[in-house]
Amino acid sequence: MGKGGFDKGGGKGKDKGKSKKGDKGKGKGKDKGKKGKGKDKGKGKSKVVIEPHRLEGVFVSKGKDDSLVTRNMAPGESVYGEKRLMADPVEGSDEKIEYRVWNPFRSKLGAGIVGGIGNMPIKPGSRVLYLGGASGTTVSHVSDMIGPEGIVYAVEFSHRSGRDLTNMAKRRPNVVPIVEDARQPQRYRMLVGMVDVIFSDVAQPDQSRIVLHNAAFFLKNGGWVVISIKANCVDSTAAPEAVFAMEIDKLKKDQVKPKEQLTLEPYHRDHALVTGVYRAPKKKKDE
Ligand code: SAM
Repeated sequence: MGKGGFDKGGGKGKDKGKSKKGDKGKGKGKDKGKKGKGKDKGKGKSKVVIEPHRLEGVFVSKGKDDSLVTRNMAPGESVYGEKRLMADPVEGSDEKIEYRVWNPFRSKLGAGIVGGIGNMPIKPGSRVLYLGGASGTTVSHVSDMIGPEGIVYAVEFSHRSGRDLTNMAKRRPNVVPIVEDARQPQRYRMLVGMVDVIFSDVAQPDQSRIVLHNAAFFLKNGGWVVISIKANCVDSTAAPEAVFAMEIDKLKKDQVKPKEQLTLEPYHRDHALVTGVYRAPKKKKDE
């Protein structure tokens, strides 16, 4: 992948290009002796190399510390103050590509990817129903992952967070913000098409039931569920491992074949990410 430097977000030195009359030749100002000094070598650009991740739709910025990045669907904009990186154009093109750093401490999905999840059903072109979108931090990275051919329907019931989510979606045509209760999918059934994946991060004790209820409306047969489980939201008295096992049992009973379970330590304490494949209940012959 291309090499690039950290995007400075337009914040290039205040005085760049400005020169006051009379400064010339004084040699006592801030700029004295700047030329050739190590400090300014490379004009502050930390060189980064962007490489594709093993999973489709995500990338790694190689540097002093590797970081997970996604290709920005809305170049020039950060969503939650995250760093943007500009990569040089690939050969034969003059298009510069911008990436956004994905902080696994701010996102359960990001933590699952950094933590080494084996398979990620959210990929370029995916249709995703996202339950618990909050202000859109992770939704924005899902939007980058799925790209212009995909779509993410993001459901969030808090009006305050829903406002941020809606604003974020203005620059991202592949995000459909829905300020509604995920327990009432019939209220948004006119807005949502059939999806390939349901991602859920609602942090509610009845999350499994909420996911299955939405799956019955929108998830294709053979589609995927990806669920972030916060143990103490389900049962604060039981050991997290017992809670995860209990939640997986509930999914099994309800047409989901679990595929993977990953704890999200050290990024999110007592959380697990679970993936599974959905088998829609068979319809009766005369239906
Ligand atoms: N996924 C988000 C992210 O990574 O940026 C964080 C989600 S936060 C842990 C849980 C969110 O789910 C909260 O914003 C909360 O308002 C929302 N939520 C909880 N119950 C909900 C429900 N029944 N319907 C819709 N949203 C719900």
